[in-house]
Amino acid sequence: MSLTKEKREMAVDNDVERRVRAFEVQLAEWSAAERPGVPVLALPDTTPEPGTCVSCGGPRGKELRCAPCLSAVALVLATPVSRAIQTAAARLQASKENQ
Ligand SMILES: [Zn+2]
Repeated sequence: MSLTKEKREMAVDNDVERRVRAFEVQLAEWSAAERPGVPVLALPDTTPEPGTCVSCGGPRGKELRCAPCLSAVALVLATPVSRAIQTAAARLQASKENQ
């Protein structure tokens, strides 16, 4: 069975999308906890073995992460940082209001 080009691209997008969603939550939680820097963004329940992707435990090349994880990390850290910070700030505000 061979996937059409569109389906392959969609599958790649879904892989990246799934990671972006998970990583955004982790970054927002990290920021909300006022921890410095950024967390090691990884899919939940990932225990990377030496030589595997640090974010999903899957096969990788020379980089620390596989291609979908590299894309997702780049997206999460580059564009939506301000969004993640806004989300974190909003959550922090909400939790303070609830105290
Ligand atoms: Zn990966």
